[in-house]
Amino acid sequence: MCGIFAVSGVDEAAAELYLGLINLQHRGQDAVGMVTCDTKTGEVFRVKDIGLVSDVLTEEKVSSLKGNIGIGHTRYPTVGVGDRREVQPFFVKRPDGIGLAFNGNVVNYPLLKEKLRADGRVYLTSNSDAEVMLEIFSEEYAKGSGTEAVFKAVRKMHEEVIGGYSVVVLIANQGIAAFRDPNGIRPLVMGEKQLNGKKSYAFSSESIALTIQGYNSITDLKPGEAVFADNKGKIERRIVETSKPAPCSFEWVYFATVESVMEGKPVYETRKKLGKALAEKIKRKWPELKVDLVMPVPDTSRPAANALAQELGVPYEEGLIKNRYVGRTFIMPVQKIRENAVKLKLKPVESVIKGKNIMVVDDSIVRGTTSRRIVQLLRESGAKKVYFVSTFPPIISPCYYGIDFQRTEELIAADKTIEQIEKEIGADKLIYMDVEGLENAIGTKEVCEACLTKNYPTTTKHTKELTELRRKHIAQVTGKC
Ligand code: SF4
Repeated sequence: MCGIFAVSGVDEAAAELYLGLINLQHRGQDAVGMVTCDTKTGEVFRVKDIGLVSDVLTEEKVSSLKGNIGIGHTRYPTVGVGDRREVQPFFVKRPDGIGLAFNGNVVNYPLLKEKLRADGRVYLTSNSDAEVMLEIFSEEYAKGSGTEAVFKAVRKMHEEVIGGYSVVVLIANQGIAAFRDPNGIRPLVMGEKQLNGKKSYAFSSESIALTIQGYNSITDLKPGEAVFADNKGKIERRIVETSKPAPCSFEWVYFATVESVMEGKPVYETRKKLGKALAEKIKRKWPELKVDLVMPVPDTSRPAANALAQELGVPYEEGLIKNRYVGRTFIMPVQKIRENAVKLKLKPVESVIKGKNIMVVDDSIVRGTTSRRIVQLLRESGAKKVYFVSTFPPIISPCYYGIDFQRTEELIAADKTIEQIEKEIGADKLIYMDVEGLENAIGTKEVCEACLTKNYPTTTKHTKELTELRRKHIAQVTGKC
């Protein structure tokens, strides 16, 4: 998962990109980059590096990025080895310069990469699927010019690329293009604002990065929709290709920040509904459970834990405190780093925990590493009983669309019953949300639930090659095969 942001028609694009990316930092903490263009002079400015937004984009760097249009990216790697060559946005000089950044995953990336290599006309410099996307887009765009060429290039992308992707493209001297995959798996919203009689447009992975900067009329791009905001303030929206809508359900549960609204449904309210529904399920199925207090695993599951406590009529407490100087463990690209990070991430409050029957609420259980460690921490801190609640149903199948669980063997629920997982994480009781409850909380059945049901919205024809490649890259990083 990554965060993307783009602006068109502002005086200082870099400043808005910076604020946008800071508000999308939770979507990727690994690397960051920006490309801007001054459409009056045609000059293009670029910066990208490994690190957090505030580390890479220093005041000096941001001030050096001139221009009135720009795109930016915060990275969470799901392909590649996580080195500098893979940091987005990617940029090519043809015809006048095109930059591209995207959020998602290209399922047929190994195949497309091979095709481009065999063709011999392009020299790929990285292990990133963004580079391949840029080649496809720019080659098609270079055949024409202006608005029609933009939409033709987007169409070409849909023809060639299989996967979940939201994309922002900077076309030097021309404007900003933004588009979503035909199923709308990855999110993308746009907003507009008027300043000194001038209209500007911005695109973002999440609404919060727009609202905080005064953008209004915020709407989600529809699945398969493309928008082109040219440098004269003109905007053109078209549905280029459609398929069954399938926005990622995991966004509402885990990835998006609670301040955002996705597909018109506030993330905060959805998480509260999940908590309430779980409490109703607990009262119905396990009325005998004696719960002294409910606590969240900070921060994602806080609204759900709060609503669950209210509905059960038991106290809500903060018994686990997050070490704010350690990143989100799930975002860490490899298990070895993840395990070490979990040990640093949470600190127990003994006075809250000791002697109590604790119901601890987490957003999800992917590999089980974090859950096991949390149960252990609570027991070491004197908990009498630990009931573990997951607001996302059991993840039984890989995600090929931009969340980094691409291999079945790393999923704890892939081959285990709930009772077996309960035992493995050491909980006295393990309670999962179910798929129906998740749909009710989000308020629609038109979502991607492939990792829960194995019903993938796209073909899975090329997933084997993708999984193999991911395995190879992880082995390269960890030194393990
Ligand atoms: S497979 Fe799961 S995590 Fe991946 S896009 Fe679909 S719902 Fe989201």
